[in-house]
Amino acid sequence: MELFDSHTHLDMKHFQRDRERVIQRAKDAGLVGMVTSSIGDASFRKTLGLISKHQGFIFHSAGCGVSRLTRHEAEKIITLTRKYAKDIVAVGEVGLDYHWVKDPKGRIAQEPLFHMFIELATELDLPLVIHSRKAEAKATEILENSFSGDVVMHCFDGPPEVAKIVADNGWYITLPANFGKHRNRIAAAKILPLSQILLETDGPYLSPDSERNEPCKIIRGAEALSKLLDDSIDQIASATTQNAIRFYRL
Ligand SMILES: [Zn+2]
Repeated sequence: MELFDSHTHLDMKHFQRDRERVIQRAKDAGLVGMVTSSIGDASFRKTLGLISKHQGFIFHSAGCGVSRLTRHEAEKIITLTRKYAKDIVAVGEVGLDYHWVKDPKGRIAQEPLFHMFIELATELDLPLVIHSRKAEAKATEILENSFSGDVVMHCFDGPPEVAKIVADNGWYITLPANFGKHRNRIAAAKILPLSQILLETDGPYLSPDSERNEPCKIIRGAEALSKLLDDSIDQIASATTQNAIRFYRL
C-alpha cells in the first residue's frame, strides 16, 4: 500500500527529540513521501536542512502562521521562497484565519497579505495550499477572483455549499486523520470526487488519538475514508497518493 502525507510540520519542536525515527516510522508504514509545511522565516530555514537530507521523500511547502502574520514576516518569507523556489513544491499554507482573529479590522488586514502570496504563487507557477479556518467562503471568493492555478484547501472544514464551490473549481481538499469527528468534513468527503481528495496528518496537530500526531498515522485517515466511501483501503491509499503526486507535481 502506498500512502502520502500531504501536509505536516516536521520542523516543529514537537519532533525535536525523535525526528529521524518519525521519518523512519513513516517509511515503515508505507509512506512514499510527505510535504512538510514551513510557517515562517526560521521554520523555512530549518526545513531546508530537512529536505536536503531526505531528497525525494520530504518536500517543502512554504507558508506562514496565518493568524499572527505581519507584513514584515510575509516579506521575509516571500524573499526566501523566491530564492529557493526550485526546491519548493507549493506556496502555503497561506490564507485567512477567522478562528483566532475575531475582530473585523484584524480579519480585513489579513487580505492584502493573502494577496501577496497569491501573486507569489502566480509568479513562481506553484500551487497554493490554503488555510481558511472559519473563513472558507471568503477565501474561496478571493481565490476565484485572483488565482487560476491549482488550489488545495488544507483541512477543509467549510459548509457543504462551499465544498461544492471547491469541487466545481476543480480544486482539492485535504482531510486530516481525525476528519470523522467533523460533520462538515464528512460532508465534503462525499461532495468532492475522490480524484480531488488528499490525506494529511497536520502532525503534530489534529491527532486521531491522544498522543502526538505524526505522518505514519496517515493510515487512520485512509481507513476512515475507506469506510465512509465504501471503497477498499488500497484503492483509497493509491488514489489519494496519486492525487498528491499530481497536485504537488512530484
Ligand atoms: Zn498545518
